[in-house]
Amino acid sequence: MNFEEQAGKSVLSRAGVSVPQGRLCASAQEAEEAARAIGPVVVKAQVPTGKRGKSGGVKLAATPEEAAAAAQAILGMEIGGFPVARVLVEEQAAIAREFYAAVLNDPASRSPLVLFSTEGGMDIEEVAATRPESLRRMAVDIRKGFGPADARRLLLGLDLGEAAVPVAGMLVDLYRVYRLHDAELLEINPLALLADGRVVPLDCKLTVDDSALYRQADIAELGAKEPLSALEERGRALDLKYIELEGNVGVLANGAGLTMTTMDVVSHAGGRPSNFLEIGGEAYTKGTEALDLVLSNPGVKSLVVNFCGAFARTDVMAGGVIQAWKTLNPTIPVFFSIHGTGEDEAVRMVREELGIEPYDRMEDAISAAVEAAR
Ligand code: GDP
Ligand code: MN
Repeated sequence: MNFEEQAGKSVLSRAGVSVPQGRLCASAQEAEEAARAIGPVVVKAQVPTGKRGKSGGVKLAATPEEAAAAAQAILGMEIGGFPVARVLVEEQAAIAREFYAAVLNDPASRSPLVLFSTEGGMDIEEVAATRPESLRRMAVDIRKGFGPADARRLLLGLDLGEAAVPVAGMLVDLYRVYRLHDAELLEINPLALLADGRVVPLDCKLTVDDSALYRQADIAELGAKEPLSALEERGRALDLKYIELEGNVGVLANGAGLTMTTMDVVSHAGGRPSNFLEIGGEAYTKGTEALDLVLSNPGVKSLVVNFCGAFARTDVMAGGVIQAWKTLNPTIPVFFSIHGTGEDEAVRMVREELGIEPYDRMEDAISAAVEAAR
């Protein structure tokens, strides 16, 4: 789940990290009122994408009237394909320097990675390419955590002067919030050193692991719901894990691992899957609903049914698909590969009731489906 700037800053604030005072506004009038209460402000587009600064989505306003005008201009904009529906009207910061700070899941070290650069404001990829000496990174052993001594070690040799102490404190805070909220990414760009010596987050990007949302209920309400397609909504209502894709080979398999393998083999054979859908585990009795869902995707031209039974019985799954096939009576070709528990019975049922011969090898079933979809 992604959190836009203002939502991310709320999360920081709730966790005890001080952020500039600000208000979310949906109209020029609201922005004017906010600026009247706050003083000189910065008006910032709230869209789930960076580069707002470069697109004119961040404007300084010294008076309430200027804030209204800035909000008026920004609210009409579209940034990175997103129409701007709200602006953050925030107390203006007297920036002395801009830094970059982030904590993120790092696949390479298989651990959290704390990143810091004295070059804030620009894209971190650009910093890494042009000013690598300004960039510091530290992989964190989650059993030991990331404390003040680690932060000081990370910052060693960077010319931070007096700011080294508050910056180190901020990095420790960011790691704490990242862990507390099961984040995948917490990025502050810029992390500003103010004229009065304080170090504050001026921007915030937060992504929380969707699998952890059940225990992040207190902040989940602040995040932006991932938009689901109509079919995905239907899958969710049925408690089926369905993801709509753009290909034309429908995939119905049991277990997430086998489903992803099936999708990989579809791609390997030169095709593109039209969905992810797995009916493993407790969902193995939902063959009918599942098939209906896969076939409802208008792009689907052929179907692979790939079952591998261990605890889940392939004859039960095949029975559901056969029943659904007879009910829905689809015109697209279907290719079966069935192995494991209940295999003999399942193969016999498919052969006798649908008049289709399951393939012995999964690769052959998938290649045939890819070919048929062309
Ligand atoms: P992004 O471009 O979408 O990442 O938006 P940011 O929130 O990072 O803002 C872009 C730039 O606007 C920052 O790097 C700052 O230079 C500037 N900016 C943001 N807030 C303030 C502020 O309160 N005062 C001043 N002077 N500049 C600001
Ligand atoms: Mn930024």
